[in-house]
Amino acid sequence: MKKLIVVNPATEEPIAELNEDTDASLSQKMAALQNGQKAWANTSLKVRIDVVQNFAKLLQENTEGLARILTTEVGKPLQQSRNEINGACTRIKWLTTNAEKYLADELMTDEEGLQERIVYEPLGVVCNISAWNYPYLVGVNVFVPALLAGNAVLYKPSEYATLTALQIEKYLKAAGVPDDVFQTAIGKGDVGKALLDIAFDGYFFTGSYKTGKYIYERVAPKMVPCQCELGGKDPLYVADDIADIKAVAAASADGAFYNNGQSCCAVERIYVHENIYDKYLEAFVNEVKSYKTGLPTEEGVYIGPLSRKEQINVLQNQIDDALAKGATLLTGGKKAQGKGYYFEPTVLAAVTQDMRVMKDESFGPVIGIMKVSGDEEAVEKMQDTEYGLTASVYSGNEERATTILQRLNTGTAYWNCCDRVSAALPWSGRKHSGFGSTLSYAGLRAFTKPKAYHLKPSKA
Ligand code: NAD
Repeated sequence: MKKLIVVNPATEEPIAELNEDTDASLSQKMAALQNGQKAWANTSLKVRIDVVQNFAKLLQENTEGLARILTTEVGKPLQQSRNEINGACTRIKWLTTNAEKYLADELMTDEEGLQERIVYEPLGVVCNISAWNYPYLVGVNVFVPALLAGNAVLYKPSEYATLTALQIEKYLKAAGVPDDVFQTAIGKGDVGKALLDIAFDGYFFTGSYKTGKYIYERVAPKMVPCQCELGGKDPLYVADDIADIKAVAAASADGAFYNNGQSCCAVERIYVHENIYDKYLEAFVNEVKSYKTGLPTEEGVYIGPLSRKEQINVLQNQIDDALAKGATLLTGGKKAQGKGYYFEPTVLAAVTQDMRVMKDESFGPVIGIMKVSGDEEAVEKMQDTEYGLTASVYSGNEERATTILQRLNTGTAYWNCCDRVSAALPWSGRKHSGFGSTLSYAGLRAFTKPKAYHLKPSKA
């Protein structure tokens, strides 16, 4: 049997060895889920809501232990792990509070001799292939509304977040989700690939553009729903009418460096109006230099190790390419000495659009900052990307900010904030950032097939 070795990225030590799934075990899990889904869909929505609320309660009661497992496995500072679990509970609260409103049958027409009704039927058994950077949050975005809507779920976590996935499975079951309604598939990309050979009723993927494109192409002939939440190269523009340069520098640096820059909606490129560029840059670099790096289990640490060793080369190549093309290194620039996948928080100035650091997703603690002559140039540069997840504008004037944001082809637009997700709003990408929505009313209904009933009570 193939083994999955889980490594602590802070120490590079193996911490667990797990059996990977095989084609045979995946088929067995699918058969069980097909069976279990029917009974689950027949339970009332009220029961399903109660079960998911129990799950959130268990997450809350066990936050400390779960946060430690997450930190040990992905290297996220402990406080950020706690924040993630709390954030997942907040999302579950919104989804469960609004499930009835968006999933219950809707009577559209009720006239003499005619009723028109929409029934939101579950898709069936859905496959959720997921990422490691926020396993609770991106997981909850999919399996919670899927379960609420009456689906069974085959959850394939990232190979870098499997211990957390097993905790999720344990607590979902302890909360009342039947064994044959939620199953986890353990393994790397090849296990994900094997899932594409199975006839699921929908595929919901969170991960990179490269894998998303592959999955979308493989799923297309099946003619079942497929959603892809992919990467980004999210821009942030600082206009020259902001009141507090230091506060904006700190907020935007947090947007770029929180979770070591390993957020799908992390700030990945910054454009600054020339009138405030020098002051902003100075404040930004001071802020980044103040970050405490260390063991992620140590309280107060803001920068831990990267979750994956491979990313060290990606970041180094981007920095080398930028420096070779004339960028200026203001701080950081290389892997930190010693054990663990630590990379120095890096700020590059005098960057240009042709540098990889301004084009390709960095997904790490590296940021390029560019001076622009005004709003027009900012829009042009922000739009110069294959991605379209989020974009942010800091400005003292709402009309100025929203005029810019309206012109940007992104799923999410931020004014005076960045790197945030709300359960009440659709979370969706454009272009290479993917398609389909999770969260909000759209994310609840994404796991359903609306059936249209035309009902004419017979007079006979
Ligand atoms: P990844 O694409 O490497 O892996 C994602 C998942 O796909 C993993 O479970 C992996 O095992 C599986 N996989 C890999 N190859 C596969 C294949 N050929 N067939 C089927 N499954 C396969 O991505 P990652 O490194 O886990 O996550 C980082 C990426 O995810 C970044 O690009 C980030 O921006 C993106 N992301 C996006 C969102 C969003 O909501 N838009 C959220 C989180 C992360």
